[in-house]
Amino acid sequence: MSRWRGVLFDKDGTLIDFNATWVPATVETARAVAALAHADPKALAEREALTVKLVGMIGYDMATRSLNPESLLARGSLGEIAALWARAAGIDAKRGAIERIGLEFRNRAVGMASPLYALDTVLGGLRARGLRLGVATMDSTQSARMTFASLKVDHLLDFVTGFDGGHGEKPGPGMVQGFCAAMGIAPSQVVVVGDSLHDMVMAKAAGAGLAVAVLSGVAGHEHLAESADHVIAGIHDLGKLLDRLAVPA
Ligand SMILES: [Mg+2]
Repeated sequence: MSRWRGVLFDKDGTLIDFNATWVPATVETARAVAALAHADPKALAEREALTVKLVGMIGYDMATRSLNPESLLARGSLGEIAALWARAAGIDAKRGAIERIGLEFRNRAVGMASPLYALDTVLGGLRARGLRLGVATMDSTQSARMTFASLKVDHLLDFVTGFDGGHGEKPGPGMVQGFCAAMGIAPSQVVVVGDSLHDMVMAKAAGAGLAVAVLSGVAGHEHLAESADHVIAGIHDLGKLLDRLAVPA
């Protein structure tokens, strides 16, 4: 029997295409915030300048189309971004502004969610090996659940938790521990898979059996190699990696 009994995935950059999902959702939401701040429909230049500024302050440069992998956009929560944007746009005193921005952002990201791979095939293949599957994300639990339901893969996931799921935040060990408790397995039997340093640090903090970094997200090989046990291109290669590790050297 394999020593692995569960796989805990990060969501964005690991299962979901970060650039195809979060970049357009970010720019559209920033435009909506800029329109709230500059209500005059003729203030187009002001709106565009504010949009560029808002997007830039959370780590995405619209001119060069580059994302800082350690930025708020890459690893912060929507609540943090909404509060920051409301303040920067000078609309934080408006009643419900922060909640409205957070909700609009969430709904856009769910609606635009673009999977990195044929998730039903990849996740189904891992399940067929007898593995229990979970997701640990710094997005909200509800947003993650809505995303997987809209992609019709929610039935393949045994566990989904976000920053607000009661298991603490990354890079603390709580999300791995929560997955283990829910599945009745030990951390040493869990493979943690993610695209950021936070995921790898979480895996080590929890004593996970294996920390696997994927290059399908926001960070490059040089950023992840040191803290990961293995680096693979993406989750479609996870099965092959587990096969390789199962063969005694
Ligand atoms: Mg990620």
